[in-house]
Amino acid sequence: MDCIFCKIIEGSIPSKKVFENERIVAFHDIQPAAPVHILIIPKKHIPTMNDVTAEDDALMAELFAVARQLAQELGIAESGYRLVNNVNSDGGQVVYHLHLHLLGGAKLKGLN
Ligand code: 5GP
Repeated sequence: MDCIFCKIIEGSIPSKKVFENERIVAFHDIQPAAPVHILIIPKKHIPTMNDVTAEDDALMAELFAVARQLAQELGIAESGYRLVNNVNSDGGQVVYHLHLHLLGGAKLKGLN
């Protein structure tokens, strides 16, 4: 499959992983937009949030649980952070494999 994140999951493209279990991988973004910028992805190839079904409920809950855990471990839980999921072209999605951006480590601008 011609998907960068599937290749990161299988290991044919290197990444700096910070978490992995049977269902989820998290790794440093190659072009960080904040001092902490982690991508959290399901191993299941789901292109966008629009493709999530009720079958994925537990997986989506676990994605957020991993985000919470990483925010704690990376020391940004109390100061604060942002979770972002870009969807399709207007949302700015570039990689069509569902992912959460975990951003923090500085006062983030925009959106409010
Ligand atoms: P999107 O715009 O689709 O929400 O975000 C895709 C993110 O993936 C971008 O922040 C981009 O920097 C990151 N990215 C793209 N290719 C790679 C890669 O090969 N390795 C890593 N670690 N991140 C990547």
